[in-house]
Order: sequence, then C-alpha cells, then structure tokens
Amino acid sequence: MLFKGDDAKKRGAKALPLLPLRDIIVFPHMVVPLFVGREKSVTALERAMAEEKVIVLSAQQRAKTNDPTPDEIFAVGTVGTIIQLLRLPDGTVKVLVEGKRRARITKWIETDTCFSVEVQGLAEEEPDTEGEEARTELEALLRSVHQTFETYVKLNKRIPPEMLISVQTIEQPSRLADTIAGALGLKLADKQALLEECKAQKRLEKLLELMQAEIDVLQVEKKIRSRVKKQMEKTQKEYYLNEQMQAIQKELGERDEFKNEIVELEEKIKGKAMSAEAKSRLGKELKKLKMMSPMSAEATVVRNYIDWVLALPWEDKTQDKLDIKEASDILDEDHYGLQKVKERVLEYLSVQALVKKLRGPILCLVGPPGVGKTSLAKSIARATGRKFVRLSLGGVRDEAEIRGHRRTYIGALPGKLVQSLRKAGSNNPVFLLDEIDKMSTDFRGDPASALLEVLDPEQNASFNDHYLDLDYDLSDVMFIATANTLQSIPAPLIDRMEIIQLPSYTEWEKVSIAKKYLVPKEKAANGVEDVDIEIDDDALRSVIHHYTREAGVRNLEREIGTILRKIAKEVVAQKDGPVPSEGGKLVFRVTAQSVPKYLDVHKVPAHRAEEKDEIGLVNGLAWTSVGGVVLPVEVAVMPGKGKVTLTGKLGETMQESAHAAMSYIRSRSGALNLDRDFHSKIDVHVHFPDPFGSGTDGPSAGITMATALASALLRIPARRDVAMTGEISLRGRVMPIGGLKEKVLAAHRIGIKTLILPRVNRKDLRELPKGVLKAINFIAVDHMDEVLRNALVLPRPNDFLAAPSAAIDWRTPLGEAPSAPAPVDEPATTH
Ligand code: ADP
Repeated sequence: MLFKGDDAKKRGAKALPLLPLRDIIVFPHMVVPLFVGREKSVTALERAMAEEKVIVLSAQQRAKTNDPTPDEIFAVGTVGTIIQLLRLPDGTVKVLVEGKRRARITKWIETDTCFSVEVQGLAEEEPDTEGEEARTELEALLRSVHQTFETYVKLNKRIPPEMLISVQTIEQPSRLADTIAGALGLKLADKQALLEECKAQKRLEKLLELMQAEIDVLQVEKKIRSRVKKQMEKTQKEYYLNEQMQAIQKELGERDEFKNEIVELEEKIKGKAMSAEAKSRLGKELKKLKMMSPMSAEATVVRNYIDWVLALPWEDKTQDKLDIKEASDILDEDHYGLQKVKERVLEYLSVQALVKKLRGPILCLVGPPGVGKTSLAKSIARATGRKFVRLSLGGVRDEAEIRGHRRTYIGALPGKLVQSLRKAGSNNPVFLLDEIDKMSTDFRGDPASALLEVLDPEQNASFNDHYLDLDYDLSDVMFIATANTLQSIPAPLIDRMEIIQLPSYTEWEKVSIAKKYLVPKEKAANGVEDVDIEIDDDALRSVIHHYTREAGVRNLEREIGTILRKIAKEVVAQKDGPVPSEGGKLVFRVTAQSVPKYLDVHKVPAHRAEEKDEIGLVNGLAWTSVGGVVLPVEVAVMPGKGKVTLTGKLGETMQESAHAAMSYIRSRSGALNLDRDFHSKIDVHVHFPDPFGSGTDGPSAGITMATALASALLRIPARRDVAMTGEISLRGRVMPIGGLKEKVLAAHRIGIKTLILPRVNRKDLRELPKGVLKAINFIAVDHMDEVLRNALVLPRPNDFLAAPSAAIDWRTPLGEAPSAPAPVDEPATTH
C-alpha cells in the first residue's frame, strides 16, 4: 500500500492535484475510467502524471456546476493513482484511475489553474472481531450483505452477475463494503456518506440499509413493469378480442342473411303445391339446414336438394286441348302425307280425350332417321296444348342416368327424367324418349328396366328418382318414344308400347315435302321469306339424288338450307354488285343445272344398277335401320375342296342362307347339268360389297345368293336390272321377308326394272305409291327355279329347269339319280 498512516505523516504537507468528479464517487480498490474535459482537471491530471501519478478524487456536491469552488467539493475523497491516460483528438482525456484510500482535504493550496490540496489519510476501521458475539454479529452482517447483494443483483439487470462471484471472494469487510458500494446504483449523497464512514461495520450496515431500500424500489419497479406489461398485454388482448368480435358480428350478419334465406325457403315450401311426402321431406331438410353452418358443404347439398324439389312441377299442369279436329289440322299443317300415322295418332288422342286419363300404351314411332318422328311428337304436343320435352336415350347405358344417383354420392343429381320434367315446367308434357333403341346395357345396371317402370301406367304414378327419393307421379305425362328399329328394343319395353311405323319417303314424297314444308321453313329460318325464290322440282330431285342418300328428309332439309343461305348472302351483297332481278325485284331460280352452283360437286356417287350383266353378280335388297338398300351379292367359284367362305358384314343368318342356297343348288345339280359331287371340287366365296357401310344385319339374301351361285357355276350372267329379295329353304322354296316397302323404294331409287319377291309378300305392295308400282315389274315367286328363270340371262327362260325328271328328289338315293342331265341352254355370252 502506498499510503500508510505513518507515510502520511512523512509526506503530510505534500500538495496533490485534485480531480473534481461530477457524479461519481471513487471508492478505494475501485478501478474506473473517467472522461476529463475541464481545463483545470486536465491540468491536475498532467501534474499528477508529471509526479507520482497520484491524484485526489473528490466529488462536487452538484454535478451540474462547471467550475466548482472548494466549498462545492466534498472534503472527503479518495486518493488514487492513474493507471493509464489517453488523450483523445478532441482535447479531452480518458483516464483510468484506481482508488486507493480515503482521505480528507485539509487544505486548499491552489484553486486557479488547477486544484491542488493537502490531504490527510483517513484510517480504515475494520470491525471488531474480539469475542464470540462480535464475530457472530459480523458473520451475520456479512451474510446478510451477501444475500442482499445477491437479491439486488438479481433484480438489477445493470450489474453483471460475475460481480457476485468476485464479491464472494472478498474477505476484508471494509473492502467488501467499498466494492459493493461502488457497484450499487446509489444516489451521490448516499455514496458520499458511505465514503465518509470509516468504520467498516457501520458502512456495511448502512450499505445493507441502502441496498434494502434499493431492493424495495427495484421490486416496486419490477411490479410496475410487470403491471405495465400486463396492461399492454391487456390492451393487446382487447384489440384481438375486438377484432374477433367484429368477425363474429360479421358472421352474425351472415347468419341474418342465412336466416332470411331460410325464411324465404320456408315460404316457398309453404306456397308450392306438391305431394304431402315431398312437403314433409322438405320440412325436415330445412330443419337440418338451419342447424348447419351456412357455408358448409353439407348445407350446399341440402340447399341443392331443396331447390330441386321446389323446382319440380308437382302440380303444375297445362290445360289439355281435346279438339280432335283442331289436332288433325295441326298435324296436317306440320306434316305432309303420313296419313296412316296421323290417323293412328288421332285415334290415340281421341281415346285420351274420352277417358280423360292416359292409361293406354305409350306411342312409339319407329322409322329411319329424318322421317319426322321428332317433329310429329312436337306436333302432338302442339295439338294437345302440352309442353314438349325431349330426352335422348342414345348411348344411355347406366340406370343412374335415368333414375339419378343417391344423394350420398358427391355431386349427385337427379336422373335425366326428372331433369327434363323440371325443364318442361309442367307435369303433363309430351315427353319424347328419343332413340329408345340406342340404349345399351352394362355393368352399371339396365336403363331399360328403369324405363319399364316409367312407361308402366300401373307403376309410374309413383316413380322414384334415387336423388329425390320421393314418389313422383308420371301418370299425366304423355310419353312418346322413337326408334329406328324394333330389333334392339327389349321385348318387355315393346310390350308397353303401341308401335307406329313411319316408312321411308319416296322421291315424289320427298319433293312434295320439300316444296310444301322444307323450303318455306328454311326460307323463314334464313330470313329470305320475302325474296322471290323458286327451287323447281328438277332441282329438288337433283338435290335428293346427288346430295342426299337417306330414307328421311333431314339431309334434304339441310341442303335446302344451304342453298337458301347462299341466296341470303347474295341478297345481302346486292348493294355491292348486280344480282338477278326481274323488273327491279330480286328473283332466284334454282334449277337442276344451277344446283351445283350452290351445293358444289355431287356428294353422293350415283349408285345405279351395274352397267353390264355380270356372271356371279346379283342385286339383292336389304333393309337397314336407315331404310332399304340395294346390296349386290358377288360369288366366285374356284377349284377347291368344298369350302364356302362368306365375307362382308354378315350375321349368322347370312351363313345359314348361304348354306341353304348351296344345298338348293346341289339338289338341282342334275337339272343344272352339274357334276353330282361338283361341290366337293370347288371352293365358293360369297361376298357382299357394302358400298353404304350401312351395317346391314340379316338381310334376306337367300335367293340372291343362290342366284349368284348358280350364275357363277353355270357361267350364265345375271340380269343387272333385276333385284330380288326372299329367303330360301333347303328345297328351294322362296320364303317371305320383311321391310318390303323400304326395299322396293331403294330399288326404285337406283332404277331397277324388275323386282323378284316372295309371293307371300305381294300384299305388301299395296303400301307403295302408284308411281313406284308402275315403274317396276314385280314378279312374285314361290320357288327358286322361277327366280333363276327371271334373273339369269337366258334365251328361253321358260324351258330352263323345266324338265321335272331332271330334279333330284331328296328321297332318291344319290346313286339312283338319273345320269343323263337335262339339256341346258348354252350360256349366253351376249345380251
Ligand atoms: P326423326 O325424328 O324421324 O329423325 P325429324 O322429326 O327430326 O326426324 O325430321 C327431320 C326434319 O324433316 C324435320 O324438320 C321435319 O319437320 C321434317 N319432316 C320429316 N317428315 C316430314 C313430313 N312428312 N312433312 C313435313 N316435314 C317433315
């Protein structure tokens, strides 16, 4: 130690520079950095540096005073040494000093350029450790100082926790007191008081007291802080809650909307006439809806359901017109011809008018496309004053398409039937079930079975759609079905229906329909009603022949539409250039010659009878779903082993017919001058070129094949202007066929002169227009021999196969057959 009591005496009079401190007390053993700026102070430091680096550190009473007088500086300070001095660029000085010991200023020597004083060292009084009691007391004091300091440090974040450790290592009570005092954030006066207290014990006690007070303050501070924090949290919480409340209120607003919606639905349900079952179901659904969150997916499902049920025409009806005369007029107005069909429709309507309730079978209009089935159904709707809906069944293969899906499926909807009814808006529309023959069945269930229920008057009063799951009364709906053929309609469905056949149209009918109906209709549709347009009969015929090939008039209508569209374009373009006119009025004359101008090149390659009579090529007639067609059958015979091959689009029936034809030829091999076992040495190839791709199925081509076979085997050409239709038995009998009218019309279309038909079918000719009957020579036959006589090119047809002895009787053993064949005319090579 530098200053010991005895040293002080020695150097007692020595003047020491004094550094007045503004707001800090430097305790002994404390090392502090000080920033010194005042001139006097800097001079004092310089002086100290010049000597032994000893300096008196004493605080001014008021920190603010810039140039304190000795009175304003505490008399008790600390003598310290300068550890380090650093001049800073701005002229101030940073100095590191260490307090050494307490001292009292005894004399002010200089006060002008710098303070220099004489000091007297103050002796440190360590506590009394004499006696047990004193020691215990000291121990207790020290402990509580330690503890309190620890508490203080914990509370005061400004003191580094390491301080605790360094304090714990100090054993000397006076030093302990000073170290702690230096670290505490006390008021200057309190610190000064601590400095002035020389008795360590007293100092410790005071320190304890001060620390306690400080701790109290700190605790309060902490409390305040946490309270403030809480307050802040509260504010934040309130803000958050407010936000939430607003959200809730908004939600509540939506609730209001939702409530309105429910009230609206309630009213709608109340106001809507419907079955009791439906009403109570809707009540239940509405109750469910009320419990749901308005935006939830379930709510949407329920809402949709309610909407669907509400939208259905449960009791909405249109008033039936039951005036048969008017109905008849309407049917005539809309359709040309179709006398038989119209009559049956009128009969049907009359019965309905009488019985008031539709209980009879459902009408089914059957015929090729474009013959007016749909438009007839529309006319019926018009005639009866009912609404019209159409449901296309083509391609429907799933029962659910008709009956709907159960509501448990996602995105479930009612079936097409209910959807159509909703569209109709009345519960007694004319309901067209279009293309009932085009439904198919697969693993998802049979749509036909659903239709069976729909069409059964016994059951359809309570039709149950899977989605609605409510019984709906269909008994007032007037169902009309359409089909191209009856073949693919399940028998139970056919049973429910009254079939009305609509035949194909002849060329004359087509021309008339076009003139009276299609042209005026298309004129209106294309906005050229007021233009003088004439499409003459030849032009129409040309369109029919070269641009359409159909049983009905749909394409004809389309082509006429095209012509009129082109004319409309010219009418619009009239400002820009000259257009045909007569006396200033626009006139358009469409003739057979000018048709290509409107419709371009012929769309349909002219299908005429063959140019030449050919060997092995015979005109057959087939009936397809799009009407009748002429179907040439070709047979080629070549050396082989008795194989019969059939190619082309053939059904089982064709196979059978082919074999029957072969058997017939074999049975006549004698008469035909063929080897008895000719068939085992040849292969026969039968081919049906199908130029229309019409997909014929089971045409009655037996006699055609037999004729072609005979022609090929005998090398006699077949007449190209002959066509035939008929089934053949093993013995050569000609059997009746169906669809004669269509077949005859097809033959007539391509200019066939002679038509061979089964005798039984002759009665069907009555249905044909007179023009056709006149144009064709009909030969009704019973036996294949007659067919050959008429179809092959023979010089003396009547002698052909005439010798009865030449016939082989099946009962005659082959070996006993007459060996000499009947003379056969040489095959003609020219014709
Ligand atoms: P389908 O339903 O038989 O396939 P559509 O009823 O659609 O045929 O008929 C096609 C078009 O031909 C319709 O514009 C229809 O008015 C017309 N049409 C068919 N037959 C006649 C007819 N006999 N008289 C007048 N127009 C007809």
